[in-house]
Amino acid sequence: RYVLNFDKISLQVTGINLPQCIKSFTEAELCPLLLENIKIAGYEKPTPIQKGAISVILAKRDLIACAVTGSGKTVAYLVPVMNILLEQCVTPYRGTVQKPEVVIVAPTNELAIQIHRESCKFTINSELKSVLFCSDASVTGLQPSNIQAGYNILVATIGHLKDFLDQGFFDFSCVKFLIFEKLDEIINMGFGLDIKKIAEHSTMPQKGVRRTCMVSSTFSEAIQALAAVYLDDHIFVTSSIVCD
Ligand code: ADP
Repeated sequence: RYVLNFDKISLQVTGINLPQCIKSFTEAELCPLLLENIKIAGYEKPTPIQKGAISVILAKRDLIACAVTGSGKTVAYLVPVMNILLEQCVTPYRGTVQKPEVVIVAPTNELAIQIHRESCKFTINSELKSVLFCSDASVTGLQPSNIQAGYNILVATIGHLKDFLDQGFFDFSCVKFLIFEKLDEIINMGFGLDIKKIAEHSTMPQKGVRRTCMVSSTFSEAIQALAAVYLDDHIFVTSSIVCD
């Protein structure tokens, strides 16, 4: 696997009323439990995209994070999102109607599995539960039979999610964070209309409850069009490799 040298990645943050970027995880004043889990994961300092994006999400602002694969984008939104959930002392839902607070939408099974694994690193010893919803039968994920067990964070592939959304399997009325991962890939796969469906199915951003985050390695016109409709006063965080 190709490993990026994080010291050779630049950071640009644009938007209005920008929150201060962080230089270390401790500076972000994260919950002690989360700091401990970051340590267990072996992450000593934030990557450039994390330095920019963590404070944006902690400030409850909408975000576009645009950087190459491997630059730490997934961790950049998972850490602040988990911190906000932990601070709210969320307990898992135990009713028969399940209402996830975080929905992370990915283009492929492989990426969804990877995000879920990353998410589980931060839920250790917490009340939070991350579940995986994809079409890969070899991984144990969320099923109609175990939905009653309760969860907070849903990591799903767009293809699988859209079918079940139509069947009324999910209630997204309590979604606080809606995150589209590799949005460029999701659009290229022809799921543009399903993005709209998921966004419209979720808590309305006007209520001031839901924040939306778009993660991508490119910033195409299609993404800009979606951002114009579904993001509110967003901040754009981008990082690129610096050549010697
Ligand atoms: P992206 O979403 O941009 O592809 P990831 O968030 O998946 O990047 O991170 C890429 C790799 O770098 C993963 O193996 C992850 O565990 C690791 N990683 C992420 N953040 C850090 C960090 N702050 N320090 C060290 N490694 C990190």
